[in-house]
Amino acid sequence: MRPTIGITCSLSVSVADSSGGRVYENNVLGLDYTRAVEQAGGFPVILPTLAVGESMHEYFERIDGLLLSGGIDMDPLLYGEEPHLQMGGIDVLRDQLEMALTRGSVERSLPIFAICRGIQVLNVALGGTLYQDISQHDSPILKHRQNSPKWHGSHTVDIVPHTLLSTIIGQTEWRVNSFHHQAVKQVAPGFRASAHSKDGIIEAIESIEQPFVLGVQFHPEMMWEKEPAAMNLFKTFVEACRVT
Ligand code: MN
Repeated sequence: MRPTIGITCSLSVSVADSSGGRVYENNVLGLDYTRAVEQAGGFPVILPTLAVGESMHEYFERIDGLLLSGGIDMDPLLYGEEPHLQMGGIDVLRDQLEMALTRGSVERSLPIFAICRGIQVLNVALGGTLYQDISQHDSPILKHRQNSPKWHGSHTVDIVPHTLLSTIIGQTEWRVNSFHHQAVKQVAPGFRASAHSKDGIIEAIESIEQPFVLGVQFHPEMMWEKEPAAMNLFKTFVEACRVT
């Protein structure tokens, strides 16, 4: 059987004018995530945003690996900071669920692949901090919110040699897409940075203790059809999730 990959999702809130202003709240996940996991040989399952509690252990009975997907900002109080003027919207319920899923996966030695907001959740859940807006970074900052097509590699990253990421990508310089205004500041204990953009922003982190706990600030699920190395990330993750 294919490994079951649990993918977290976003909350979308909309108001339908035609129904007298009824408010709709939906679990939403981009098709790119499920397509990439399926293409890599995994069985994708979207994890609904439930309250943290009794259902937590049931998530872990059903998944072989955790994929933390992209989305809006995290509550900065979770890493001990007051909200900066440039921070965006947050989703308190999603923060709680993803923090619990991340810590639970690490306790159970489940592989984790974390994308965009996901790398930020991974880092904060395990004791790291974030730049609430990359303008807070010391050195001049490049454009990390591209206007080009979603698959386009708009900036370069330097990949640290002899890391999990360098093994998967097979080169030390790589062009990636970029859709973020926050980034990892202090790397969580037990992790190391494995890629940086040319302005010094951390673009990937990985566990130095577990075989596959990897976060990337870019979006490989939008790149793989043009860039085979991006699919290697998903394939290596799904292989790590295969129950032996
Ligand atoms: Mn970037």
